[in-house]
Amino acid sequence: MTAVKSRAAELAELLQLRISGMTTAEMALKLGITRVAICNRLEQAGIPMSQPISPRAAVRSCLSCSRPFISTQPAHRICDCCRS
Ligand SMILES: [Zn+2]
Repeated sequence: MTAVKSRAAELAELLQLRISGMTTAEMALKLGITRVAICNRLEQAGIPMSQPISPRAAVRSCLSCSRPFISTQPAHRICDCCRS
């Protein structure tokens, strides 16, 4: 066991909290970080509070760079970094 979570595990956790309908305050409390940090992480992960989240969203590997990212639907297989 390592104390540092893998990127995929961190994304999966964020996604789970976001889908569960928690507020940023509740997520901050659960993860022990500030609300601002939560907002930053959600934005970086591509699932900001300003956008609805689909229950079909999942952590998938980018077909281009192989890095794990939050895919908002099954057909979404290229990360934002590679698409831009
Ligand atoms: Zn990529």
